[in-house]
Amino acid sequence: MLLENLSYVEVESYLAEKDTILIPIGSVEQHSPYGLIGTDFITAESIAREVGKRLDLLVAPTLPYGMSQHHMGFSGTVTLSPETFTKVIKDITTSLLDHGFKRIIYINGHGGNINPAKNAFDQLKYEGKKGIFTIISWFLLGDVLNLAKELFEDKEGHHATPSEVSITKYLRPDAFKNKPKNEKEVEDKEFYWPLSKEEFKKVFPDGRMGSAPWLATEKYGKLILEEATRATIAEVRKVLKMPLV
Ligand SMILES: [Zn+2]
Repeated sequence: MLLENLSYVEVESYLAEKDTILIPIGSVEQHSPYGLIGTDFITAESIAREVGKRLDLLVAPTLPYGMSQHHMGFSGTVTLSPETFTKVIKDITTSLLDHGFKRIIYINGHGGNINPAKNAFDQLKYEGKKGIFTIISWFLLGDVLNLAKELFEDKEGHHATPSEVSITKYLRPDAFKNKPKNEKEVEDKEFYWPLSKEEFKKVFPDGRMGSAPWLATEKYGKLILEEATRATIAEVRKVLKMPLV
């Protein structure tokens, strides 16, 4: 069930029965020469919508832009500052709370969003807002990490991973027609986090972070998407069972 396809009357009926909504969030940022700029919101949206379908929960429109300052050295990246991202999450959450949603679950495809989203939740709680606000990052869930390790071993890396690129390849095969296929060296570099956009480009010149995105396939994508959906459902179920204070 997609919020964008309902009328307000239908939202009222939904709220008479349920109090949960899923919001996919991602990023618009470089994913090396091998992956799509939209990787993070495409994966999060697809997982959130599948979870919504299977659990019969409402899914809000995707927030594609995220906190991607460290990727600004690469063309096409669009970032919100951490402050703006926190404010956007606060405003979305507050709007949904105003209508009676009580469990607001962000389904996340991008690591850089986690701290500013949690910052938003902390601020909302400090302001006395009631309800459960949480963020589920599909790529950090144990079963997904295990599958990635099984498929790609030490070539999964931390950014432009073959896992996320596989999902997008499965969902949008046409977008990969002109992407490179050659293999490169995979290095596990040591660095302090965070990095500025200049530092990031110096340490990771082609935008990969210890990953081998050329290993991505549609077949793996289907497999990882299913595992990510299943693992996310398990997390969402925990939130559904949680008593409201
Ligand atoms: Zn990504």
